[in-house]
Amino acid sequence: MSPASDFRSLSASPRSRRSGVRSRLLAVPIALFALIAVLAVWRVGSPPVLELRTNVPGIGSRTEITAVAEEAGRGLGTVVLELVQAERRWELARTEHEPRPFWAFWGERTARVELPAVVEGRTVEGLAEGEALLRLVASRAPTWLRRPAPEVLERTLPVRWRPPSVNASSQPNYVGQGGSGLVVYTVGEAAVRHGVEVGDRLFEGSPVPGRAGEFFALYAAPYDLETGDSIRLFAEDALRNASRAPFLTLYQTRELVRSTIALDDAFLQKVVPAIAAETAGLRVGDDLLAGYLEINGPLRRANAEELRRLAAESRETFLWSGVFLQQPNAQVMDRFAARRQYTYRGEVVDQQDHLGLDLASTRQAEVLAANSGVVVMARYFGIYGRTVVVDHGHGLMSLYAHLSSIAVEPGAEVATGQTLGRTGATGLAGGDHLHFTVLLGGEPVTPLEWFDAQWIRNRIEAPLGGAGAAGAGAAL
Ligand SMILES: [Zn+2]
Repeated sequence: MSPASDFRSLSASPRSRRSGVRSRLLAVPIALFALIAVLAVWRVGSPPVLELRTNVPGIGSRTEITAVAEEAGRGLGTVVLELVQAERRWELARTEHEPRPFWAFWGERTARVELPAVVEGRTVEGLAEGEALLRLVASRAPTWLRRPAPEVLERTLPVRWRPPSVNASSQPNYVGQGGSGLVVYTVGEAAVRHGVEVGDRLFEGSPVPGRAGEFFALYAAPYDLETGDSIRLFAEDALRNASRAPFLTLYQTRELVRSTIALDDAFLQKVVPAIAAETAGLRVGDDLLAGYLEINGPLRRANAEELRRLAAESRETFLWSGVFLQQPNAQVMDRFAARRQYTYRGEVVDQQDHLGLDLASTRQAEVLAANSGVVVMARYFGIYGRTVVVDHGHGLMSLYAHLSSIAVEPGAEVATGQTLGRTGATGLAGGDHLHFTVLLGGEPVTPLEWFDAQWIRNRIEAPLGGAGAAGAGAAL
């Protein structure tokens, strides 16, 4: 009897009211039974929503997998993540939960699980390079009468853990601490990222102009790197299988020059308020020494970091040619890479490394571009005061600091010897001089190599096949 006809019987005669009471008594269990029957047939869990994420597009020497299953109704049951190849199957992760009973509309259930797994291809016994299937299987909550098929998500993935090969083809290869190097190499076809690794940095390679299949990388040996052990050729494929090959035959160490600078109040008064006024976000109080230490330490590091970021904008072409120009009539006041100790009223208050050449000539002398390139910075720049940075391509840049005036705009193409501005004493400078730095990938390197025509011929042009940077530049 339907609930509707039962309702009609309420307004009937006493006789039929008695039978109405009986039918009402019957109606409850019948309706309940009908409801349970309906639920038992129909209320299976919804198909869980599945997702498979991997950190690399395949199974490599190390693949991180995250499997996600979601079912917000009756909740999840068993979720299994597995790898399948031919007849073999490896279970990577499994989780089991109890979905809500089909007749329950509340109570505990697991609506979402995340299964992490790490597969190190080479160490999975029986797995071969080629292809494999990554499969995520999530059961659906059943009823007494129905047991739906589980929900399955599959992805076919390449399996490869052999890294791409990488071999130096230029010989010999040597570099000095704080210097620049260039190596020519060949690399396996699967490589998507390659170059010279120095510690945790990668100086990415580019094709050698006119020589198919060969690459070169210009790299910097940081001034404070005491051994060449961490300088290696590096190649990695899309699955992040990586090769590292030592290629240096010699690493020449260089001692840091040490010097002491005595700070006095007149100097602090000259530089601290001026730099603070030009530097957004730098707050210095009345204590000039504290302000100075803030500039000499944290601001110096922030500027170095910004130069590393600027390196990413370097053009992938040789914009320079020939030897780098030294400023005419300039006296070198200090050597590249000096560890400076700072004293104030007889006490050591700070220590920093000075990375560049300080050159003095006449006051407000013209500052000339050391080589051709494109201006990528022309503004006040922290400890460097008014600064121009010229990009010479492939990560090589030159920096001119403490200028009194700037004569170029960012984006301008400049020729060797073109006037960039005039020397001055802006930023952390006691008197009028030019601070000159050569940067490779944002890393300061000694400019002396780039001033040396023979060094450029032997170390840069010869490995590139004699055509050299000039020829290569012309070709691009
Ligand atoms: Zn300097």
